Amino acid sequence: MRGLVDILRAEHHLETNDYRALLECDDESVVTYLHRQAREVGDAVFGKGIFVRGLVELTNVCRNNCYYCGIRKSNTAVERYMLTTEQVLQSCQQGYEVGFRTFVLQGGELPRDKAQWLVELVSMIRQRWSDCAITLSLGEWPRDVYEALLKAGANRYLLRHESHNAEHYAKLHPAEMSLSNRLLCLTWLKELGYQVGTGIMVGSPWQSLDNIVEDIEFIEQFKPEMIGLGPFVPQHDTPFGKYANGSAELTCKLYSIFRLMLPNALIPSTTSLNTIDTNGRVKGIMAGANVVMPNLSPVSVRGNYTLYDGKAITNAEAAEGVAQLETQLATIGYHIDWGRGDYNQCAIPNAQFGN
Ligand code: SAM
Repeated sequence: MRGLVDILRAEHHLETNDYRALLECDDESVVTYLHRQAREVGDAVFGKGIFVRGLVELTNVCRNNCYYCGIRKSNTAVERYMLTTEQVLQSCQQGYEVGFRTFVLQGGELPRDKAQWLVELVSMIRQRWSDCAITLSLGEWPRDVYEALLKAGANRYLLRHESHNAEHYAKLHPAEMSLSNRLLCLTWLKELGYQVGTGIMVGSPWQSLDNIVEDIEFIEQFKPEMIGLGPFVPQHDTPFGKYANGSAELTCKLYSIFRLMLPNALIPSTTSLNTIDTNGRVKGIMAGANVVMPNLSPVSVRGNYTLYDGKAITNAEAAEGVAQLETQLATIGYHIDWGRGDYNQCAIPNAQFGN
């Protein structure tokens, strides 16, 4: 099995059955070896710096009804909010003063008539903080909206495909949402010139190992600049409220597989991983992740962005906790890299790894 890890590291590719075998393997020595190889490759590309992104949770208003998500339209138990332009700019200002040079605007999917507001917001952030990267994670929009947001100054877009298997996708989403539209959006984003991130929830209901292999192979051919992976965590007011958490171990295994497959990719150690495992952030980094996204949102609304139960919103998950984050990283020999951390600014060019 170690041989498969060596092949993945050398060739950035495995055959379908070999990906499956690696996912199934629970031999601790092999898993440790996989993580170590991934960390070595991560260190070779990025050194000991971990990028931080300041996350602004713009709104929990959403037009979609994803069965897994706590801010789905039909959840009447959640108190809805939408940050004002001023609140967003204030959050960015506070983040900038702390040292953040990437702002991530994430939120539920707003009504179409809010597109112009979003464009103006991005444009204001771009004008005020010309040295910062702007990442958006605002779901599915028509191509011309993505284009307008890019022209206004956005650089990156995160849109998890959630599952590359149409049958599985349909079990996670209502009929008005489709995998084909999700993939079309990803294609547009790439064509337009965004740095694009995609990914899945690990352990979402009905997800099989074969589904995950399909996701791996999609990501291998799509070659996103960013890969967002976190365990599924139930939210009690959703149709999936009684399902079990995804696995932290499998999530970390996937971080390692993707680090070996796409050495330059930006891979966050996610809040959901840190929610189900108190040492999740560190484990994610030791498995090959190289980004952390502390929360910059106003403290008053954080408790309402309830994607899942128990979501960590304080301490090192929060922008106020960067000192704690720095200390935590130091215990494993890492430090915060305060740079923008664009994909194409990685220390070692892609060519070195043949992808
Ligand atoms: N609406 C945008 C979208 O769908 O891309 C951005 C916001 S959405 C809440 C961000 C991500 O949260 C989703 O891609 C999903 O993978 C994740 N998420 C939602 N509910 C979750 C849950 N119960 N457990 C873990 N992750 C969840």
